[in-house]
Amino acid sequence: MLRTFQPQTSRRSKGQLLVSLVSPKANPRLNKKTHLQLHQSLVGLPELTGRRIFIGFRPRLTAHRGQLLSGRPEHGASVHAACFIRKREIVLETELLSRPELLRRILIHEIFHFVWARLGNQFRHQFAELLIHEHKNRAKGELGESSSLKKSLLLPSDRLPGNPHRWRDYACESFCDTAAWVYAGLSEDGAFTLARRWRQHRKTWFQVTFANCCKC
Ligand SMILES: [Zn+2]
Repeated sequence: MLRTFQPQTSRRSKGQLLVSLVSPKANPRLNKKTHLQLHQSLVGLPELTGRRIFIGFRPRLTAHRGQLLSGRPEHGASVHAACFIRKREIVLETELLSRPELLRRILIHEIFHFVWARLGNQFRHQFAELLIHEHKNRAKGELGESSSLKKSLLLPSDRLPGNPHRWRDYACESFCDTAAWVYAGLSEDGAFTLARRWRQHRKTWFQVTFANCCKC
């Protein structure tokens, strides 16, 4: 049976933070400490509005042929988390509970995948314009491993208007990594390789765009 948890801020009235937690069968008891840890991970985010997002934990996650596996490390590449936009679910690796700073960063990254999905073309293009501007100025680096990887896969032609897939993937991961960097309040990290001036442009854009709330 699935157990659900609603933080105090997740009442159903409009404009409230609507993130609730569910523990999967594999991890039937999310204790109070875990609830608190997740709740603390969300402090400092702009107000989130939207339907509930369910958050669960499973041990030793890997991605294998488009599927998320747990406890089968011999199959696929290890991952810390996955999100399922239509199911409104985020699955986090149980091991993150002993690494609170990383948990916070990854949880925010995953939540912003939902924000990206509801951002709308106007704001997605605005954020992409920042990235294009960085590219034109030969800015190197990124603000997380996911976006660094996607950036490294880009071909020159991917950046042309009308081109698509890899560029969109990169823009999405860059958006989520930037959100985690902006809101997680992290100290310096080896994954933050983007120069300060470009970071500041992105941070300002997030602060202006999500000054009131953000839909997720
Ligand atoms: Zn991502």
